Amino acid sequence: MIIALFGPPGSGKGTQAKSLVSTLSIPQLSTGDMLRESIKAALPIGLQAKSFMSQGQLVPDNLMIELIRERISAPDCLKGFMLDGFPRTVAQAEALDNMLGGLSKRLDAVVSFKVDEKALVERLSGRLVCLACGSSFHETHKPTKIQGLCDNCGGVVSKRDDDSPEVVMTRLRTFTSSTAPVEEFYRLKGKLRVVNAFGEEKEVLSRILGAIGFPS
Ligand code: AMP
Repeated sequence: MIIALFGPPGSGKGTQAKSLVSTLSIPQLSTGDMLRESIKAALPIGLQAKSFMSQGQLVPDNLMIELIRERISAPDCLKGFMLDGFPRTVAQAEALDNMLGGLSKRLDAVVSFKVDEKALVERLSGRLVCLACGSSFHETHKPTKIQGLCDNCGGVVSKRDDDSPEVVMTRLRTFTSSTAPVEEFYRLKGKLRVVNAFGEEKEVLSRILGAIGFPS
């Protein structure tokens, strides 16, 4: 199965992706995580992406398309994969269609996460992410058992640089202007599955599984 998780920053894509990985047994391909790792490792793509990311802007399409082209050809993607944060523009969506066509594969569904904007700002401004395993927590709604340490692996949790209030507002504006047309692109192809992403994590997970026709 090949699916894409689609939604504004803070809509819970990353959290749901972690549960979906074990339920569907396919890898999560998070372009945000891949870019952050490339920055940490000082790879050329990381150096090129860094300034766009720190300002909450999209990284140019050509870089993103190459990043994904290489990743989806890896052996662990043979039986399917879950895109998280890609495609974010219509150009990326079209490129993905072409890449998959070339591999005789196709995207099964795009799950669009719906959450109201006030909830998004609130989620992002209190978000804590584990630097080691990527698990997400929240200062008030989902605090770690031991302050500053991840419940799952004991790694250090901290706020992401681009979760500051000004950058969050830019990321949300970017989503509305560049990314929302992608939803229309998939609606017209009959691949869009809109899911109410507000509520308990387990509830949202079962809505997603229902939307993609996976027996739960
Ligand atoms: P995320 O972790 O998905 O919120 O992504 C963090 C940042 O990485 C975004 O604000 C963008 O700067 C960049 N990014 C991630 N995925 C993409 C993409 N598909 N296209 C362009 N920029 C991206």
